[in-house]
Amino acid sequence: MGSGQVTDSSAPFDFRGKHVTVAGLGVSGVPAARVLHGLGARVTVVNDGDDERARTQAAELETLGVTVRLGDGATLPEGTELIVTAPGWKPDKPLFTAAHEAGVPVWGDVELAWRLRDRDGRKAAPWLAVTGTNGKTTTVQMLASILRAAGLRTAAVGNIGVSLLDAVTGDEEYDVLAVELSSYQLHWAPSPRAHSAAVLNLAPDHLDWHGSMEAYAADKGRIYEGNRVACVYNVADKATEDLVRAADVEEGCRAVGFTLGSPAPSQLGVVEGLLVDRAFVEDRHRNAQELAEVSDVNPPAPHNIANALAAAALARSFGVSAAAVRDGLRAFTPDAHRIAHVADVDGVAYVDDSKATNTHATEASLAAYESIVWIAGGLAKGATFDELVAGAAKRLRGAVLIGADRALIREALARHAPEVPVIDLDRTDTGAMLQAVQEAQRLARPGDTVLLAPACASMDMFTNYNKRGDAFAQAVRELGA
Ligand code: ADP
Repeated sequence: MGSGQVTDSSAPFDFRGKHVTVAGLGVSGVPAARVLHGLGARVTVVNDGDDERARTQAAELETLGVTVRLGDGATLPEGTELIVTAPGWKPDKPLFTAAHEAGVPVWGDVELAWRLRDRDGRKAAPWLAVTGTNGKTTTVQMLASILRAAGLRTAAVGNIGVSLLDAVTGDEEYDVLAVELSSYQLHWAPSPRAHSAAVLNLAPDHLDWHGSMEAYAADKGRIYEGNRVACVYNVADKATEDLVRAADVEEGCRAVGFTLGSPAPSQLGVVEGLLVDRAFVEDRHRNAQELAEVSDVNPPAPHNIANALAAAALARSFGVSAAAVRDGLRAFTPDAHRIAHVADVDGVAYVDDSKATNTHATEASLAAYESIVWIAGGLAKGATFDELVAGAAKRLRGAVLIGADRALIREALARHAPEVPVIDLDRTDTGAMLQAVQEAQRLARPGDTVLLAPACASMDMFTNYNKRGDAFAQAVRELGA
C-alpha cells in the first residue's frame, strides 16, 4: 500500500452546452440523462434496444428536449464531448472504441455521481464503499443499519434502494453514505475516493465482461484508491489483501483485516462467540473491544458473520461506537431470497437462498447447514461444479436438480458424491418448483434443511431470482397446507 500523489479529479465540471452522450436507457441511463439535461448539457441517449419500454422512456425524455436514438448503441454521435455509460455496457463495444479514438472520456453512473456530489455549496457526504463477488448488498445494508443506530443520516445506495445519483443530487442531506459498487461500476469510475472501503471476497465472476480474472480483480481493487482512513480486506481471501497492497492511498490510511478467527492487531474477528475489534481501539497490541455477539448477526451463518465484521470495520473507521454496531446488527433483517427461512414442516427447515446464483455464494450457503437436501440448477453461465460439490458432499442428504444446465451438477455429484441420492427433474414449466420441493421433502429427515441455493442464474425457468424464490416459498406453503 503506497501513499502518494492522489489525483483529485473532483473539480466542478461545467456541463453547460456540453454534448454528452448517455449510453443505455434504463435504471441508470434515464436519471443520468435527466440530471445532465438539468445541468444544461445537450444530451443524446443511444440505446441498442428498440422495444416498447425503450420507446416509452424515450418519449418521456424527448419531451424534455433530450435526443434519443433507439436501435443504435454503436455509433458515436457527432460532436460528443463526454459519454456517460450504463455500467453493464462492455468495454469492448464499438462505441467505446470510437470514443477512445476520438479522445472522448467515458464515465459510468458512479463517476458522474462523484463529480456532482458537492454541488450547490453543500458539504458532500463521505462514502463508505463495499465491493466483492458476493455479500455486497447484505454488507451495505448492515452498514447503513449500524450508521443509523449511531444517529447518522445515511442511506444504502448503489445497486439497491436509492441510486447513488439520486442520493448525491437529491434534496435529502446525508452525513455519510453506505455505497455498494459492482465491478462494472468500478471499471467506469476512475475518480471516487472513499473514506474507507472493503473488498469482501474475490472469486471468478463476470469474466466474459472483464476479459480476465486479472482485469476483474483490478477493477475491484479500484475501490481502495485514494482511501483516507481504512482499506478493509478479508484475511481468508489473500487476493483482497493483495489489492490493498497495490492501492495508492492517502497518507495514514490503514489496512484493516476481518477474520472469522481470533483477530490479530489491526483486525476485527471472533473470540468465544463475540465480534471483537482490535483495529479501532487504543493500544491495539494489548486491547480489544467487544462489539456484539455472533447471535446478533442475522442469519449467523459464517459468511454472514464475515459480512457483519466488514460492515463493522467500515463503521468503526468512521468513529461509530461499539454499542451502535451491536444495535445496528440487531436491527438488520436480510433482503428476501438471501438465506431466508421460509418455514419448518415436519421438523425440516426450508430455506430460500435463490440469490445464490453462482458457486461462490452457494458454497457459503451449503457451509451454513449440517445436513442438507439441496435444490440446485438453472443457467450455469460457464461455471463448473466439481469443487463446490466435493466440498459439500458430506453434508448432502440428497439433491434435486432443476433447469437447463442441471446435467453439469449431476455429473459433478456422480464424480464427488456418488452415494448421495439425486432426483433429476426434466421439466421447466411453472409447476416444476412444486415438484422439486415435494421430492426434497421425501428425501429429508427431521433436523435436515431443504436449501434452495441454485448456484445458477434463474432465467431459463423464471423472470429472475426473486420469482424463483417466490415459487419455492409458495411450494413450501403448499406442503404445509
Ligand atoms: P451481492 O450484492 O454481492 O450479490 P448479496 O448480499 O445480495 O450479495 O448476497 C448474494 C448471495 O451471496 C446470497 O446468496 C448470499 O447467500 C451469498 N453471500 C452473501 N455474503 C457472502 C459472502 N461473504 N461470501 C460468500 N457468499 C455470500
